[in-house]
Amino acid sequence: MCGIVAYVGPKEAYPVILKGLKRLEYRGYDSSGVALLNSGLKVFKKKGKVAELEDSLVGKDVHAHIGIGHTRWATHGEPSDRNAHPHQSENGKLAMIHNGIIENYSQLKNELIKKGYHFISDTDTEVLLKFIEDIQQNNNCTLEEAVRIALKRVVGAYVIVLIDQDNPDTLIAARKGSPLVIGIGKGEHFLASDASPIIEYTKEVVYVNDYELAIIRPDELILKNLGNEKITPYVTKLDMELAAIEKGGYDHFMLKEIFEQPDTIFDCLRGRLDAANASITMAGVQNNIDQIKNASRIIIIACGTSWHAGLLAEYIFEELCRIPVEVEYASEFRYRNPVVRPGDVIIAVSQSGETADTLVAIEKAKEQGALIFGVVNVVGSSIARISNAGAYTHAGPEIGVASTKAFTAQLVVLTLIALKVAHAKGSIDTQRFVHLLNELHDIPEKVKATLQTADAVKKLAEKNKDAKDFLYLGRGYNFPIALEGALKLKEISYIHAEGYPAAEMKHGPIALVDETLPVVFVATKDSYHEKIVSNIQEIKARKGKVIAIVTEGDDTITAMADDVIAVPEADEIMAPILSVIPLQLLAYYIGIAKDLDVDKPRNLAKSVTVE
Ligand code: GLU
Repeated sequence: MCGIVAYVGPKEAYPVILKGLKRLEYRGYDSSGVALLNSGLKVFKKKGKVAELEDSLVGKDVHAHIGIGHTRWATHGEPSDRNAHPHQSENGKLAMIHNGIIENYSQLKNELIKKGYHFISDTDTEVLLKFIEDIQQNNNCTLEEAVRIALKRVVGAYVIVLIDQDNPDTLIAARKGSPLVIGIGKGEHFLASDASPIIEYTKEVVYVNDYELAIIRPDELILKNLGNEKITPYVTKLDMELAAIEKGGYDHFMLKEIFEQPDTIFDCLRGRLDAANASITMAGVQNNIDQIKNASRIIIIACGTSWHAGLLAEYIFEELCRIPVEVEYASEFRYRNPVVRPGDVIIAVSQSGETADTLVAIEKAKEQGALIFGVVNVVGSSIARISNAGAYTHAGPEIGVASTKAFTAQLVVLTLIALKVAHAKGSIDTQRFVHLLNELHDIPEKVKATLQTADAVKKLAEKNKDAKDFLYLGRGYNFPIALEGALKLKEISYIHAEGYPAAEMKHGPIALVDETLPVVFVATKDSYHEKIVSNIQEIKARKGKVIAIVTEGDDTITAMADDVIAVPEADEIMAPILSVIPLQLLAYYIGIAKDLDVDKPRNLAKSVTVE
């Protein structure tokens, strides 16, 4: 998510920063900006591409030997010039860039407003900067000290970098949760979110750790912890090529995004799930809780992968909230004459927030008086703006065309909403509620463990890459995952694949089964386990090849299937977040084995903005 670049040294800072920002473009962003310090502090920022910022600066005085630059991926406040970074302090002397989220920003903001501070942007970043400024003024201390004090009160994830008009040769940086690399040159230092903006200048780098603060001058790098004790910087040598670094060391964005899922799910839960205190914080749900819990019906509107997330949410909402749910393809819903009433709640699910069909479908439902709740990834997108309320998935920019990390983040957000509504409605008992919160809390670690199946899945992919068709079967919570697995395979490997509810196979698809057809069973332990074991037997009796995604320790299916991929045990409501991962990897590795462009499959677009 988004990028940071900073420079201090004898070079012209602006070209170094600009080039660095372009190198970080792959991370995805919606606006960019720079702050340069020469005789005074100059801040330039713009919504849109780095090239637009560059064009707007032609002919301007950008001479400086110290500066900071940022590409923003909005989390707080829509993408706009005003919300772009760097932000400036009230007295105009400090400028700051920030990656991440300050969770307790609204509390800090209220305190600062009472003290007379003004806010130009909607960002959490400006709040943190003015909080630092306030501490510095009240304590009459150095900026470094003020940053340290401020960070002790801050909840959230951040990398921040500040420049100060009163100390024109010093950058101050700190991190917790977001990445920061410092490149050590000759009498100069480079800061960036990853090594790609640095590698052409130096291969000597220091990776800053969480809760560390860096004071950086042209020929000095001081690292400290938040207790003001010095730490010896650990200098490592980069041995990567530039091209590899841009994808974070992965061969493709899709693989990078699959492997990011422990972090994206963690980010999605951050500030929302408090398992220890059995609570879920989601303002969009809380502000409309009566209307949602008393909804006569929930209609989930989506397309593609998001529709699969919606389908799983139907099972979860009905189970936990006892509210009738319908899941609709946006393209169908918008053109028929759907019955929507004021007591209905519409949940619109979209990664980009720009999906044309979904957008029109919710406009239509809104006209008929329904509450529109958006579940989108891109902040400030059209669906986010048109919705009455919503919850962002916070999965970060997804660049691979086939959705992976955005899907699991959608599952997590929809599960959180269902749990919160069920709790408010009293349709879930406390013990189960607490159990499910704990299960959600453990999911990022279990996703990490599931990713260790990658090598085994790769071998499976080699073995099955020449199949002409695949069948994916699942029951209950794993039925939508069977659909999603089949869709991933179609998108990435161009192999025809069908997803079905496992019991439906007897009503037709079983006619396809022979010794050449791989049948993928999504069969983690759940209430339907015995039923799916019977379905596997039925396929084996017809000489079908069975690949099964099972829960670790499932000896029954392991003994029956040709190949098995085991994922950690989880409650049946959360298990799909794990069982989908081997299917994402299977599609990826088959695409690779067939030498296809997995990041940009033919005919597909990332965001379907036409109907
Ligand atoms: N939360 C900050 C904002 O919304 C920073 C986002 C980012 O990491 O780019 O501006």
